[in-house]
Amino acid sequence: MCDINPEEVKSKAVDEIFIESKQSLMAHTIRGVVNHFHKNLVSLDVIVSRDLANAVYRHAPSKASILKTTYIPKDPKSPYYRVRARIFIRKDANHHLSRLCIAHELFHLLMALEHFKGSNREKWDGQWKKEDESACNGFAQELCGKHNEFNSDSRERDLRVLFPSELFAQGFVLDLSDVNLLPDCLKIKH
Ligand SMILES: [Zn+2]
Repeated sequence: MCDINPEEVKSKAVDEIFIESKQSLMAHTIRGVVNHFHKNLVSLDVIVSRDLANAVYRHAPSKASILKTTYIPKDPKSPYYRVRARIFIRKDANHHLSRLCIAHELFHLLMALEHFKGSNREKWDGQWKKEDESACNGFAQELCGKHNEFNSDSRERDLRVLFPSELFAQGFVLDLSDVNLLPDCLKIKH
């Protein structure tokens, strides 16, 4: 058996995964889209990359981002179709533009899903469609507005974002092995 110390892995992972999660722009929205696809029998992978090769610029110098999708042939034994999506953001886009671009490209994906469903799931067409552009921009703007409303609402923040301070009090050691021993803020309600 190989000798890997879980405490050592943990010490590194806390920092590494925290940094990674801070860089995972629009992570909740991407998760929402993946779940939506899953409910519609499509297993979706989304990868967001800074476009270090300037592919976006070469594709169209005025564009801020592009979306590429790949349809992966279905395993006949699985009920799920499979699509891989890559969103490339211009490397010089700032934080806010990057997030709006991700939302914009996700709406192209949602439209592609609607077309896929409309074809009785026979034809995946992830090609960019000019007629979708204004709805993609509208989706990005409205969705980011909802994020702002949520993030500025102190009740939402207390309920869903901030963990109760007693979890980090001196001497408190988290133990999830028995729900009967949890502190009040984590108690199971019967
Ligand atoms: Zn677009």
